Amino acid sequence: MSDTEAVSDEDQVQERLRAIPAVDVVLSHPQVARLLAGTPRPLATAAVRALLEGLRRRIRAGEDADVSLPAVAAAAAAAVTAQGRRSLRRAINATGIILHTGLGRAVLAAPAVAALAEVAGSHSLLEIEVESGRRGSRLEHVRGLLRLLAGAPSAAVANNNAAAVLLALNTLAAGKEVVVSRGQLVEIGGSFRMPDIIRASGCRMVEVGTTNKTRLADYEAAITPETALLLQVHPSNFRVVGFTEEVALPELVALGRARSLPVMVDLGSGAFFDVARVGLPPEPTVPAVVASGADIVTFSGDKLLGGPQAGLLLGSEAAIRRVTRNPLMRVLRCDKLILAALEATLRLYFDPEAALRAIPTLRALTRRPDAVRALAQRVVEGVSRPGVRLAVVETASQVGGGSLPTEELPSAAVQVEVEGLPAEDVARALRRGDPPVFGRIHRDLLLLDMRTVAEEEVAEVCAALARARW
Ligand SMILES: *Cc1c(COP(=O)(O)O)cnc(C)c1O
Repeated sequence: MSDTEAVSDEDQVQERLRAIPAVDVVLSHPQVARLLAGTPRPLATAAVRALLEGLRRRIRAGEDADVSLPAVAAAAAAAVTAQGRRSLRRAINATGIILHTGLGRAVLAAPAVAALAEVAGSHSLLEIEVESGRRGSRLEHVRGLLRLLAGAPSAAVANNNAAAVLLALNTLAAGKEVVVSRGQLVEIGGSFRMPDIIRASGCRMVEVGTTNKTRLADYEAAITPETALLLQVHPSNFRVVGFTEEVALPELVALGRARSLPVMVDLGSGAFFDVARVGLPPEPTVPAVVASGADIVTFSGDKLLGGPQAGLLLGSEAAIRRVTRNPLMRVLRCDKLILAALEATLRLYFDPEAALRAIPTLRALTRRPDAVRALAQRVVEGVSRPGVRLAVVETASQVGGGSLPTEELPSAAVQVEVEGLPAEDVARALRRGDPPVFGRIHRDLLLLDMRTVAEEEVAEVCAALARARW
């Protein structure tokens, strides 16, 4: 390349950079200006600045970019509209993953939503005793319900199950040793790794057994005067198959009793509903684990329970009293919105059949394949758009949220094909809609698994397919 050519390339770049319209010019373009009523000006300005910066970057990188005012104004209008919408808003889950952490895990039952809204918009009885007018405990709203539902002597609630585990470990074993099987040192995703949580709780972890086999004798041999707790972690998001052995909870509890050591169980996705009823392999239910005599059992509120994000702790009066007196309880406590939603969710469980109908997580779990197929059929019949081919296909959904990892539920999906467009692009267009629709790509085809789509959302899925801008 000659010097003159290089210079003229650089000149051209400078010229194209200068052609980019100024922020104020873009903001006062009619197509953008009319949107400023719906978007706060600082957000709109920031969106336009980011857009122009992107154009500059592309031009400097030698890429093609249309910097004419009409083109920039159209792109700015889209960016400003997007800024005008709340970022955290509803979405349609057509992934087939019932407890999808990215999509907010459990959807609350209507009575839980109503309770949350009532308490959010008024003063409430959060920490006050009606009779005496004195300050009470926020845990009383759920403690009695949990006692009855789970058969536990006492209960407490923290911000999530990770917090519940941290709180229980710190209360019962800070500065001491916690004995746990090597086969249960799980990573749950995000930043939850059992060894890290044990360390963060101020405890020393003592691993026993091997990845695939741990025997009672391994626990026995590990107990020293420094031991404060025997910990069992439910392997909720993986399975070890083949040559395996773990110690059953009743045996571990018997050992704990014999050595005067408390036994703690992190159940992960604690369920009151017996998943064997929908053909899934049996999982221990919360009441069954409590009945086996563990001193403290922890589980999530927003996994199979189908409630709000929370960490439930069930256990003996003595153990729970120590937990609630731990200063960390104040740090990790739930707010009133969560407690209102949790109380309303728990109340539903007194009528198990009604709970199946009212709690969306259980409804999705127990929905029969023919009912799912009927929803998929409605979508296929409800959309007719040139270049778009829809078909009902058999598929399999997952429970998700680290629950029942190897199990699949027979399901049905709408297979979406758009002429000349890769599945990734089709999926992105649906995600960009309002409300965003999230599907799943399987073998280069986009599937909208209807197991996780509510009846009321079917029309919106149809509208999304009819209007998406590919
Ligand atoms: C999911 C899970 C956790 C973490 O629960 P969160 O409510 O997400 O904090 C901890 N332990 C186990 C075994 C889990 O499955």
